[in-house]
Amino acid sequence: MSRVFSGIQPTGEPHIGNYFGAMQNYVKLGREYGKQSLYCVVDLHALTNPAAFDPALLAQRTLDMAVANFAVGLDPSQVIFFVQSHVPEHQELSWVFTTITPVGDLERMTQYKDKSGQLESVPAGLLMYPVLMAADILLYRADTVPVGEDQTQHIELTREIARKFNHSFGETFPEPRAVYNKQALRIPGVDGQGKMSKSKGETSTLGLFEPMDSIWAKLRVAPTDPARVRRTDPGNPDVCLIFDYHKLFSDLDTIQMVDVECRRAGIGCVDCKKAVMTGITAHLTPIQARGEELRDDLDSVRDALAQGAREARAIAAPVMEEVRTKVGFLK
Ligand code: SF4
Repeated sequence: MSRVFSGIQPTGEPHIGNYFGAMQNYVKLGREYGKQSLYCVVDLHALTNPAAFDPALLAQRTLDMAVANFAVGLDPSQVIFFVQSHVPEHQELSWVFTTITPVGDLERMTQYKDKSGQLESVPAGLLMYPVLMAADILLYRADTVPVGEDQTQHIELTREIARKFNHSFGETFPEPRAVYNKQALRIPGVDGQGKMSKSKGETSTLGLFEPMDSIWAKLRVAPTDPARVRRTDPGNPDVCLIFDYHKLFSDLDTIQMVDVECRRAGIGCVDCKKAVMTGITAHLTPIQARGEELRDDLDSVRDALAQGAREARAIAAPVMEEVRTKVGFLK
């Protein structure tokens, strides 16, 4: 039986880029794979980024990420959803993997080079990040890993670590494959400065739980087709981020209407933005309402995470036991 694993960074409240790029896919895979799909809020990984890490906020952000995923429809009773630090086997397996992973391979990772280049003092944990990621995946013998394309190198390294371990200690781990969600790359920021990203600040993002008036304030001033200077100028929806949002939030009739009317100046940009706002409101209002309910009952969220950790450990413990035996620890 195939098994899915995905790690989720505890970045607090996600934006619509995260929603369409990853979270929607988790819901879909969760329905397909049920308890064979594992989703893990990776708080251990969060420690490796000194710029974003704040001990006062980590627990809150971890909870926020659970709330957000449950609010969009991931059902913790149908999948396994848990917090990485609640399953200590991740760290134990990670240590074993550090002993078979060449430092040179880790130093070659593009993300490591990018992040370490911005730091005066580089924590060893940042270098070891992909080893922990390999442990996250292989601990559950997961073979399917939904990720962004920026994770390709890390998944390759995970396959390499699995091969090495199997070669040294006997067949133990499958070689997982990455599954990409290409839509993640196409969601533009509302500031028109490329992909929607939290690192570019709030001017780039539309938050999943952002109040509608705040979303409208950003949409109202969002750039459109730059060639459309006057209301009477025909526009090109293919170069306009508002049209990209229509494709995510509007019904087919509205999308087709904008596609035609924009090109013959039959609709103005303000009306076009109002139309997309209608779709956004219809889409996000029930998610925000569900988020409110969950925030009013955080004990049930914590209970779901505790249950998820128990279910994850039920899979992880025998795998780790097998690893301990194979590497020769005294029983
Ligand atoms: Fe963009 Fe809509 Fe204006 Fe066309 S009418 S340029 S799609 S905002």
